Amino acid sequence: MITIPIKIEKKNNNINSDNDIFIKTLPPLSIYVHIPWCVSKCPYCDFNSHSKDPSNIDETIFLESLRCDLEQSLALIWNRSIISVFIGGGTPSILSVKTIDKILEMLRTYLKILPNAELTMEVNPGTVDSLKMKGFKESGINRFSIGVQSFDNNNLKKIGRIHDRQDALNSISCAQNLVENVNIDIMFSLPGQTIDNFVNDLNLVKSFNTKHLSIYHLTIEPNTFFSKKLPIDLPAEDTSSDMEDLIESELGEIGMKRYEISAYSKDRFKSIHNVNYWTFGDYLGIGPGAHSKISFHNKIIRQKRIYNPSLWMNKAMKMNNSHIIDSIYISNEELPFEFMLNVLRLKDGVSKQLFKFRTGLSVDIMKEKLNIAYERKLLSKNSEKFIATPLGWKFLNDLQAIFIR
Ligand code: SF4
Repeated sequence: MITIPIKIEKKNNNINSDNDIFIKTLPPLSIYVHIPWCVSKCPYCDFNSHSKDPSNIDETIFLESLRCDLEQSLALIWNRSIISVFIGGGTPSILSVKTIDKILEMLRTYLKILPNAELTMEVNPGTVDSLKMKGFKESGINRFSIGVQSFDNNNLKKIGRIHDRQDALNSISCAQNLVENVNIDIMFSLPGQTIDNFVNDLNLVKSFNTKHLSIYHLTIEPNTFFSKKLPIDLPAEDTSSDMEDLIESELGEIGMKRYEISAYSKDRFKSIHNVNYWTFGDYLGIGPGAHSKISFHNKIIRQKRIYNPSLWMNKAMKMNNSHIIDSIYISNEELPFEFMLNVLRLKDGVSKQLFKFRTGLSVDIMKEKLNIAYERKLLSKNSEKFIATPLGWKFLNDLQAIFIR
């Protein structure tokens, strides 16, 4: 195994002897694996996903590139334990069972994956059958995240999904028969969607008694097909807000609690992987466009990989770290914002001590900004926790923006 040292740019570096950080205990570490292809590109999607005929994907070369990417990153996470793996995309379930099995085998070979680690895989209902799902489970996947978005065939068509209602129902049943921990992704405020359509979607979610739900308002992102050709039948703002109001009350009926802006779960089924992001934990992302945040005792770095899949494969296999396009230290001034950006998404907030644990800095460094947030009644004056007030939760972007350097 060859490991080439990575040159890290010191961007915005203000680290001086008075202000050096010291992180006593490194945070929990997760692994993200990005699969960049989809059967077709959805018109609202701004992820790093590229439409590709599944039969034209060279899974052997992709797998080898992932291995090279991982090998070049090992020095950054040497000897650390892994609490979760998330295979996302794109559409991971576009790949064969054999390739997913080999990805997991490769991760187990190189890394110390904890025995109770959460191993999630995203599944598009249009790319699986029960046999394939069973194969993924046998490879070690213990949590499926099913990209349903809606159960209404008209709504699905309008947002360019490749699956229909029946595919979605089949995938959920199949996943729930295989593993206990299943997430369903749902979207609302879709073109042509009525309150009744959405209530039907929520009722179906409830009927499945799912353990976790991620629910998103459709947003029109730049550089998507919808941004160039806006759907004419998007629900009015009032209708969208009525839909939003329905979510918490309807899901509460089956004991699902909102624990993050877009995430609901039953008691012990919060996503370990996502909670690690939201509590400013560490993650190594491999694959095209994947991002990483990795802590050392005296610094925290961020990395980005090349987005284009072919170029990423080509560069990763050169084994000289040229597949990494950005590698920077996060400066002391940026750390409060980076930390707050994540932790304030959690409805119950986090302990104030976590700031010191994760950043190595004293809470005093953001005293002025905290006072602004308290004065504007966006942050609760809780002595133990950083937690948004109901007003802060409603205007979360404004609250987070206070902490920008
Ligand atoms: S399936 Fe998911 S990742 Fe792929 S294009 Fe659609 S929204 Fe994007």
